[in-house]
Amino acid sequence: MENKILLTEQEIPRYFYNIMADMPNKPMPPLHPATREPITPELLEPLFPKDLILQEVSSERYIEIPGEVRRIYAKWRPAPLFRAKGLEKMLDTPAKIYYKYEGVSPAGSHKPNTAVAQAFYNKIAGTKKITTETGAGQWGTALAYACQAFGMECEVYMVRASYDHKPYRKVMMNAFDAQVYPSPSDRTEFGRKVLKENPESTGSLGIAISEAIERASLEPDTHYALGSVLNHVLLHQTIIGQETIVQMEKAGDMPDMIVAPFGGGSNFAGIVFPFLRMNLAENMNIRCIAVEPTSCPKLTRGEFRYDFGDTAGKTPLLPMYTLGHDFIPSPIHAGGLRYHGAGVLVSQLLKDGLIEAVAERQDQCFKAGLDFIKAEGIIPAPEATHAISTVIREALRCKEEGRSQTILFNLCGHGHFDMSAYDAYLSGNIKDAEVRDEQISASMAGTDMFQPA
Ligand SMILES: *Cc1c(COP(=O)(O)O)cnc(C)c1O
Repeated sequence: MENKILLTEQEIPRYFYNIMADMPNKPMPPLHPATREPITPELLEPLFPKDLILQEVSSERYIEIPGEVRRIYAKWRPAPLFRAKGLEKMLDTPAKIYYKYEGVSPAGSHKPNTAVAQAFYNKIAGTKKITTETGAGQWGTALAYACQAFGMECEVYMVRASYDHKPYRKVMMNAFDAQVYPSPSDRTEFGRKVLKENPESTGSLGIAISEAIERASLEPDTHYALGSVLNHVLLHQTIIGQETIVQMEKAGDMPDMIVAPFGGGSNFAGIVFPFLRMNLAENMNIRCIAVEPTSCPKLTRGEFRYDFGDTAGKTPLLPMYTLGHDFIPSPIHAGGLRYHGAGVLVSQLLKDGLIEAVAERQDQCFKAGLDFIKAEGIIPAPEATHAISTVIREALRCKEEGRSQTILFNLCGHGHFDMSAYDAYLSGNIKDAEVRDEQISASMAGTDMFQPA
């Protein structure tokens, strides 16, 4: 058996898969914060091009991928699927472990899969500039790359904590000609308000989103792009799982369990949704496990409620698992997993018991990450180590119970820009702050007034 399963360029998927078509319970509609009535798609027009709004509300099962988008994907796709023989040996487990490696993209993660698609639909709609936020810098890099590829400007609001701690991510965005500002910034009304209240604010994803949205709604020919959470973002990522199904078939195997880290849900949905279609439509029974950090536990300790996607309360109200839009998680190294809410599609699937969620401690994740580095030779992004920690526990359980299972996980990005995080772990400087129940109920109270009667 080969350890690496590759596909040809012709095998890049031709369609995005829309799980909305196969969900037993469709998600509840987004609501207008003032009227609490379902929003009309036109309300989103200042922020997104028409094609993306149509995808956001579509229930068509397959949406064709434009040729130009597939041509750009071909620079790094199809992404390789690996059999983790080294890790299996290290754990001495009867389990078979596979991972899809998305770190081969220009940004080093799965994020360009949607950045390129979003940039394309903006370009054909006449957009000149796209604004966005970035936490750890992965999404900003991906969008900067995609905007540059289509000759558009890109303006990025980068969470202050990362701006200070990850200078090379900023340089990478600058190399793609993007403008990068630390958030909170003095370029927006909301940023100035936050700075006035707390000049030392290290920012949050929610604050940066508010700033990027404010800029996009004020400037002409300017749109906004989000790197996770929304339906169309999850839709674009389904090329990951579609490729993986073909690769697993080539390997003569099928997963019993799929594991992926969870920030807003896009890489999880990307690998899981095409397999979940087989659960829903073909009576398969694959376990799908989302892994979040214990410091930002919206899936395992949050509640399913209507809440805002940002901190300022400018987005529509979304029905999702949330910790409350005021929740500010401790500054763990897996910046991509520090978001208060979960995408609407994944939230509904979790509510319906069709997927599972677990939380992992940061120190355990780094330990798992280092085992993986030694066993497989690839440095995982801190986000990806969350999946690895769960995979190792499941593989050891197989060993205990003496049964073989096939485990697939998404190695959604490499950690080449995160060596200071590994350094902190190796020098014993990783702390895990417990999230107290009172902290969650306090931030949750901020959503009480928005619950439908
Ligand atoms: C952004 C990011 C995540 C988290 O976002 P999702 O939308 O949940 O995938 C996880 N891993 C990496 C490497 C990321 O860049």
